[in-house]
Amino acid sequence: MARRCVMADGQAASQTILVVGGGMSGLTAAVEAAEVGRDVILVEKRPYLGGRVAQLNKYFPKLCTPACGLEINYQRVRNNPRITVLTLTEVQEIQGSEGDYTVRLRENPRFVNEKCTACGECAKACDAEVDDEFNFGLSKVKAVGNGHNMAYPNRYAMSPEFAKTPEAEKLVAVCPVGAIEPKMEAKESTLHISSIIWATGWTPYDASKIRPYGYGRIPNVTTNMRIERMANKFGPSGGKIVRDDGKEIKNVAFIQCAGSRDHNYLPFCSRICCLASMKQTTYVREQFPDAKITIYYIDLRAMDRYEAFQKKIEADQGIRWIKSKPARIDADLESRSPIVIGEDTLTGVRYADKYDLVVLATGMEPNIAASPVPASGMTYDAYGFLANATTGIVGTGCATGPQDVSGSVQASTAAALKAIQSAAKARG
Ligand SMILES: Cc1cc2nc3c(=O)[nH]c(=O)nc-3n(C[C@H](O)[C@H](O)[C@H](O)COP(=O)(O)OP(=O)(O)OC[C@H]3O[C@@H](n4cnc5c(N)ncnc54)[C@H](O)[C@@H]3O)c2cc1C
Repeated sequence: MARRCVMADGQAASQTILVVGGGMSGLTAAVEAAEVGRDVILVEKRPYLGGRVAQLNKYFPKLCTPACGLEINYQRVRNNPRITVLTLTEVQEIQGSEGDYTVRLRENPRFVNEKCTACGECAKACDAEVDDEFNFGLSKVKAVGNGHNMAYPNRYAMSPEFAKTPEAEKLVAVCPVGAIEPKMEAKESTLHISSIIWATGWTPYDASKIRPYGYGRIPNVTTNMRIERMANKFGPSGGKIVRDDGKEIKNVAFIQCAGSRDHNYLPFCSRICCLASMKQTTYVREQFPDAKITIYYIDLRAMDRYEAFQKKIEADQGIRWIKSKPARIDADLESRSPIVIGEDTLTGVRYADKYDLVVLATGMEPNIAASPVPASGMTYDAYGFLANATTGIVGTGCATGPQDVSGSVQASTAAALKAIQSAAKARG
């Protein structure tokens, strides 16, 4: 991670662009700006880059693995000395105006220093486990590790709670290169920046808020992001989509707009959930060729080139499409199977159908709603997404609204151009 770092307290770096958020949008903006010769500082609050895309099993419409898109960007970051990556870092305060911002950062401790070679000796010696955030708590991981199989940078991090324990101190002697530092502290720094790209993305809507669907109370009701992890061979079940009792799936339902387009929960359409569920039917079909699949939908949103993807999925005769927003999910206590209850709006027929697994297609909430841009003059739309408010701070990707990956990449290339223009103004 040797970088030509333009960060220096009190030292001007007027042409430097700050990118906040290291998902597909932030990565794209960072490499595009750096490849035309701008210095870029990319800050990411997690220990690794990649954002939500790193958690997907495959991408629609091509159904390739996220490694294709991410690895190319990691290489572009790795090979470009103009990009400085700061993980576990968040922006505390932004002051100034286009061309001349002063930004205060806080870098949280990793408890593992830059000498780490990811050899794994510390993890082997560590007995403590924590919930695996990357797998949405579906599994446990060692309290020291590199997060997931595609993590970049491939450097270990330690859980802050574990770092306080005597067991963490014992790992200091285990590391062959002296990388373990349980007493590492947070660092604050100040940057001088010409423009800022805000790409903090989204978080899955909390399905437990949708009380009638019983997520968290009724067994075998899961979410679209959890099934991405389940289907992944590096995921919590080694790639096998299973019920919580380990039984196979013979009959699965996807409920679209779970909480979305509903003023009680998330009033807007997240635009990708229909496509994500269609994609996930292919995960089920690959593993269970005879499985029955049902999709409950209000209306299907597969715009433009995605219509062809929908046609491809519709060719699967084992999928039943029911136009309906289910009223609720009950539990069959004996079989631990969810029962989906509602009315087919095309036929008026009521149903109460039992499934092995129900997948709630929950939408995307903007991270920015919980953690707004710490600058004055910013505005947000009715749903909490960033509405670009100042010329020097540009929003992109899912920080500005629900987007697919290709939309995020296009918007981020445009954001890089705007940031470069602000940097050019800084030159005077
Ligand atoms: C179930 C599901 C399946 C999907 N499948 C597909 C698919 O197959 N194909 C497709 O095209 N799209 C898919 N999408 C959409 C895709 O996930 C998004 O397009 C993509 O994640 C957008 O990238 P982003 O960088 O804007 O946001 P994110 O991926 O959310 O990345 C944002 C990054 O910013 C970081 N961050 C957040 N806050 C801060 C902060 N304050 N400071 C620093 N860093 C911060 C986060 O940790 C994260 O790394 C799917 C979405 C869902 C819900």
